[in-house]
This record gives sequence, C-alpha cells and structure tokens, in this order.
Amino acid sequence: MSNYPDLINIPFNNSFIKDVFVPGGTQHSPRSLEPGYWVIIQDNKTILQSGKTGPNLAFGALPGWLETAEVPIPIGSWHGRPLRLFSIDTKCAIRPPFIAEALNAAVQTIDDATLGISGLARQIIHWEQQSRFCSLCGGRTGPFLHEWGRQCSVCNTKQFPQISPCSIVLVRRDAEVLLVRNAEWPAGRYSLAAGFVTIGESLEDCAAREVREETGIDIAEITYVGSQSWPFPSQIMAGFVAEYAGGELTVDHDELEDARWFSISDLPALPPTRSIARRIIDTFCRC
Ligand SMILES: [Zn+2]
Repeated sequence: MSNYPDLINIPFNNSFIKDVFVPGGTQHSPRSLEPGYWVIIQDNKTILQSGKTGPNLAFGALPGWLETAEVPIPIGSWHGRPLRLFSIDTKCAIRPPFIAEALNAAVQTIDDATLGISGLARQIIHWEQQSRFCSLCGGRTGPFLHEWGRQCSVCNTKQFPQISPCSIVLVRRDAEVLLVRNAEWPAGRYSLAAGFVTIGESLEDCAAREVREETGIDIAEITYVGSQSWPFPSQIMAGFVAEYAGGELTVDHDELEDARWFSISDLPALPPTRSIARRIIDTFCRC
C-alpha cells in the first residue's frame, strides 16, 4: 500500500520530528551549562513560552518560580541545541509569558512538532515515574547508558519501557464505514473501534475481537496500514482497515455510547488530524 509514509507521518512518532529532534540522552550532561531548550511537563500539559512566533519550547535561563528540584533529563537535541526535560508539580501556577497547553486538547494551538516532542517527553516522564523501584524485589533502579531501560541496584533485573499495544480499525461496508462514540468525547464526535491487545492475541485478532465485542460485527481482510506512538500515557496504536463480514449492529453500552454505519459522503465530527484514527479515515474514506 503506497499510503504508509503519509499515514505514519504524524505527531508522537519520532520520525515526524526527525529534522529538528535528534534523540541521544547521553550527548549532554544534565548539569551542562550549555544553554538549551526545555521540555517542561505538568501532568498532561506542556509548558511553553509565548513569543513572536507563537508558543515554543523555552530556551536558556528559566524564571525562579519554574525551577525544579529534579535533575533535568537530557533527551537529545532540538534545532541543534541541547534538549532537557523535567516535570513540575500540578499545583505550580503558570505565569506569563509561559502557558500550559493540554497535549490532548480538542483544539490545538501549538504546532505539530512542539506537540510531538512534548508527547515524547510526557511518555518519558511516565516511564521514569513508574520504574524507580524494581518490580521483583523493590530495590532502587538506575538508568543504563544509551537506553531508556532501568536496572535494579539490588538484583540487577533490567526493565524496559512498558508500552501497551492497541489495535484500531476502520470497518468498511460498500460506501459506508462503522464508527463508534465514547461518552467522554466532545459532543457529536465519532471515531474508530479500538482496544488493548490481551495476552496471546495478535494485533489482527485484537481488532476483530474489539469490533465484535463493541458492535456485534464480524470483520475480514484485516489489513495493517500504519502505527502511531500514543503517549497517554504509553501506548502504540496499530492501525488497520477491514471489510464487513457479517453480523447485526448491536452496541455494547458498557463500552460505548453509540456505534453507527455512516455513509462516507456524510461523516460526523471526527478526531483531530494528529491522530491515526483521523489519518485512516481521511485516507480510506475518500468518495
Ligand atoms: Zn530487584
């Protein structure tokens, strides 16, 4: 399928920011004095500095109220300068010219590259918070070089970033597509059926099971079309298209508010373009 490059060229995949971001946590010392950029995470928000070119990553010296007791984590370079990361307490009030931008905001006011690096930072912070202690013996862990893994200082067990695989699938039936709606989404928005892979399950099996469980529909010709890193907090979304193979639409109201067949010429409100759900719909629902 010739659509792969377009389909995965989306925020939160590192390849999307390869021209401005070079990963490499060990290139710069955390306490290096060389001025650099800051990714500052506050829960699910990124703290940016307003300027003439819009909100951007802060650069250089920070105001005292924004300093942290944490040792900043060097994560590579941004536009050729050191890039460091730290998180701040949710109680910290953000003062101008800084702003707090939600990473999963329905309406984006920041550019996709800044969104992408902020998402990566959010995922790193989550992993750092989750991996301070060994899951086997409770000992303290420390980083090992050149990787995001952590090693226990007591039993030497290594652990690696825990990324949860999910399948997300567009189901087609002639000129219609099956879309679902969760109650928490903005009013009127529909998207693709999706869910977490369980033990022993292939990504394709997961796509078929989620659609069957949520809507009563059986699918076939399940075809992989691309994937997206999803840092809320740490998933990888594997995208598929599939064909209707049977069954009557029966909505599982424990999981969904609604599910419907929509004509591709009359689609409802859809997820933001930064999501693989929207990219799949835009790519495979052309009239
Ligand atoms: Zn241990």
